[in-house]
Amino acid sequence: MAQPIDSNESPWRLEAGHDEPAPRLLGPARADVTIVGGGLTGLSTAYHLVERFPERRIAVLEARAVGNGASGRNGGQILNWINGVSDRDPELTRRVHATTRQGIELGASLSLACGVPEAFAQEGCLEIYTNSARAERAQERVERLAGLGIPLEWIPAGRLGFAGACGASADPLAGRLNALALLRAMKRNLLGRGVAIHEHSPVERIEEGRQVRVRTERGEIRSSTLVLATNGYTPALGYFRWGLLPMQARVLATRPLDAESVAQLGWGGCVGFSDDLDRIAYGCRTAAGRIVFGGGGNSGYGYRLGGRLPAAATEPGERHHFDAVEARLRHYFPRLRDVPIEHRWSGVLGITLDRVCSMGIGGEHGNVLHALGYSGHGLALALLAGRVLTDLYAGDHAPWRDLPFYQRRFRPLPPEPLRWAGYQAYTRLTGRSPRRG
Ligand SMILES: Cc1cc2nc3c(=O)[nH]c(=O)nc-3n(C[C@H](O)[C@H](O)[C@H](O)COP(=O)(O)OP(=O)(O)OC[C@H]3O[C@@H](n4cnc5c(N)ncnc54)[C@H](O)[C@@H]3O)c2cc1C
Repeated sequence: MAQPIDSNESPWRLEAGHDEPAPRLLGPARADVTIVGGGLTGLSTAYHLVERFPERRIAVLEARAVGNGASGRNGGQILNWINGVSDRDPELTRRVHATTRQGIELGASLSLACGVPEAFAQEGCLEIYTNSARAERAQERVERLAGLGIPLEWIPAGRLGFAGACGASADPLAGRLNALALLRAMKRNLLGRGVAIHEHSPVERIEEGRQVRVRTERGEIRSSTLVLATNGYTPALGYFRWGLLPMQARVLATRPLDAESVAQLGWGGCVGFSDDLDRIAYGCRTAAGRIVFGGGGNSGYGYRLGGRLPAAATEPGERHHFDAVEARLRHYFPRLRDVPIEHRWSGVLGITLDRVCSMGIGGEHGNVLHALGYSGHGLALALLAGRVLTDLYAGDHAPWRDLPFYQRRFRPLPPEPLRWAGYQAYTRLTGRSPRRG
């Protein structure tokens, strides 16, 4: 089925299975755990909870449809590492890699268990270096990490099809995830196991207590535990207002390429890439051969006063931002200069000052779990969050205590309108993107 270019929908939708809407929440209900947000964090948490506690009543409230947020609108690369965490400490580096590897493995195992193995492809992702000094340092890093048992490969410039590339490191464990396809399959699986999923049920108010009351326009759920799985949308619910910056990221996709054009791209056999520039550009080949491409300049990212997000390409002032993203795509891949763009959309990132995400438990009564602030690098981590939050719910903190995201407190961002002014000054004067430090 065709999708209009400016519908503000990602093509992941065209490559995902059929979806039947779940019912709205109507009237009062009770649950043991209420999860707000039907993205990867929310449904992975529901999945892990129902596996471990099949007798507990679990409810998911989603404002629109499952995958409406970043999980259904992203660049598609499922990657190792935690944004914002340096790899200088060998012990921490090993631990972080082993942890994010678990997140990637969850992408594979959940896709299989929910009957959509094609949603996941472990075909490797590249990090492209566009300057020779950085390429030299990156090659040394590949060797250093190999010494820690972390498999990365160095690909010299001659084997790459990117204009201006000086080399790339390839992570063979990384890959592509059509998270929307996975989420729709997880939704069917969870409904079949008795999880109450309510779509088109935006949460309007949360009242904490030993029993948390979560209200939507036409219903209310009381439960002993609340899970905030709303990433960049969370400040709008009154939580993490000082530490989380909702940021819009603009993305586009080409029409499907044939196998020969894909082979000529020069991606070293990998399925995705990102570059080393501060205003990071990234891309991924979908299963149908579309090239999804985003970022690549401050036009690729945007922050609005009050955090109103996301905007379609048809909104006033948006079109030239999408044109800039497209220009970057054509710059990197001159071979794609005549390939039509068929999709333009945007999604909401949750950015923190130091880029590190947080997973933990808090609230006035110690019964509010959260996992958020992935800073644009969240597919593996949001899947992993389901495992982490289920452990924390069960009181089992030990496996996660030594990880940088465990109970992490975000550094405060300035209040509005200083925040907006600071963002404009920072991005315009320095040319740097707040997505990367
Ligand atoms: C353009 C873009 C490109 C990206 N590319 C990559 C990439 O290539 N690799 C990578 O690892 N990461 C990438 N990311 C980041 C990754 O997509 C996210 O970190 C991850 O999907 C976050 O999942 P989540 O479930 O926590 O949040 P989301 O997917 O945003 O889900 C939150 C959900 O909460 C719902 N919600 C919000 N408010 C309410 C409310 N009041 N009531 C009920 N429901 C509510 C929303 O509708 C949404 O469905 C990208 C993100 C974007 C936007």
